[in-house]
Amino acid sequence: MKTQVRQTDLELIQGDITKADVDAIVNAANSQLIGGGGVDGAIRRAGGDQIEQACAEIRKREGGCPTGKAVITIGGNLPAKYVIHTAGPVWAGGDSGESELLASCYQSSLRLAVENSVQSVAFPSISTGIYGYPTEKAAVVALTAIEEFVKQDSAAPAIIQFILFDDATYTGYADALSSVFGK
Ligand code: ADP
Repeated sequence: MKTQVRQTDLELIQGDITKADVDAIVNAANSQLIGGGGVDGAIRRAGGDQIEQACAEIRKREGGCPTGKAVITIGGNLPAKYVIHTAGPVWAGGDSGESELLASCYQSSLRLAVENSVQSVAFPSISTGIYGYPTEKAAVVALTAIEEFVKQDSAAPAIIQFILFDDATYTGYADALSSVFGK
């Protein structure tokens, strides 16, 4: 499924983000930048030691990555040149600033992408796995945040993909795409 926002192609794809042939993939990391399960574990396994070494340097220098912010490392053995690590919010019922923090993850990641001349970027569904954010709510926040960014920044990547691992997540994003973009 696909739509266009200004000059950017926004695509929903079902698959494995570690295989994405894009300039940068985004990792649903944690604020300590310490290897976890889910997509983080998959990216670190596929990318190899260079990613952990780069994360260790950031931990030493900056202490990690606050929730809603993003940091960038090399992609190691991945097809992608860069990994943008962002720490999503843990779902706590919706009244603890989760939607603002989640929107900030997407916007901070895209800002780093622009600063590094990234032309194509792939996101997973941040926070909807171990962190428990309801998928459809997260999808609406994610797509709205991306739409706002692209409308405000003329240097936004030409291709923005969501690579969604399972059927239910893909369906949640497809429904959200229809409601946010009216298609
Ligand atoms: P969080 O801790 O932010 O909730 P998770 O890694 O637990 O992050 O889950 C985020 C999403 O990533 C979930 O939808 C999960 O199914 C998905 N996921 C897991 N492995 C991969 C992968 N290799 N490629 C793309 N998405 C993945």
